[in-house]
Amino acid sequence: MRVKVPYDRVVRWVETFAATIAENKEYLTDLDSAIGDADHGINMDRGMRAALAKLDGQPPGDVGAMLKAVGMALVSSVGGAGGPLYGTLFLQLGTATAGKSEIDADDWLAALTAAVVGVQARGKAEPNDKTMVDALLPARDALEEAIAEGESFPDALRRSAQAAEQGMKATIPLVARKGRASYLGERSAGHQDPGATSSYLLLKTAADTWSDG
Ligand code: ADP
Ligand code: MG
Repeated sequence: MRVKVPYDRVVRWVETFAATIAENKEYLTDLDSAIGDADHGINMDRGMRAALAKLDGQPPGDVGAMLKAVGMALVSSVGGAGGPLYGTLFLQLGTATAGKSEIDADDWLAALTAAVVGVQARGKAEPNDKTMVDALLPARDALEEAIAEGESFPDALRRSAQAAEQGMKATIPLVARKGRASYLGERSAGHQDPGATSSYLLLKTAADTWSDG
């Protein structure tokens, strides 16, 4: 099992996430139609397509510069709440990994921590507000715990993705307190949050692309 994820494999994660978003475009949009304005899949797909186009012209080798380019593409191509929040997430991942040609478990923990802090600073969502934070924060915490327990990077990534999945499912009964879904009040309960779902896919694809030999 590799201990460090080299630049090319981080790029492959971004590409796999973009492909997974494209595959789940309708699903994410359906989730958003229940408690929002039916555009989350469309937004994320547009943003990740713009990100991939930007990566084409990117000088290779610097993980941080590449992730920042993804963030800037998301910010400039996607409106609404999701674009700026995912843009912030990737910009923070990129700032935390600036100048690195590969990342290890501690680098990823630092990056994911910065990303969650950034998303919360921007969107002001707390846990259980029924947002992407409900997938991201448990994923970050599980990663930290797994690393502290001495688990390998691949195993820590899997635990992180599992925590994101649980956090995503746990949004179903919640009443939204942030974003468009909060306009529905109690009627937002009983539906899975679209942003928590795309955030689970983000961490699941990281575990999948960085874990196999
Ligand atoms: P919009 O709500 O503008 O249509 P999207 O549909 O792309 O944008 O994204 C909706 C998702 O954004 C929600 O499911 C939620 O997870 C996330 N979200 C909305 N507002 C916030 C916030 N203030 N903080 C964190 N996440 C948020
Ligand atoms: Mg929406």
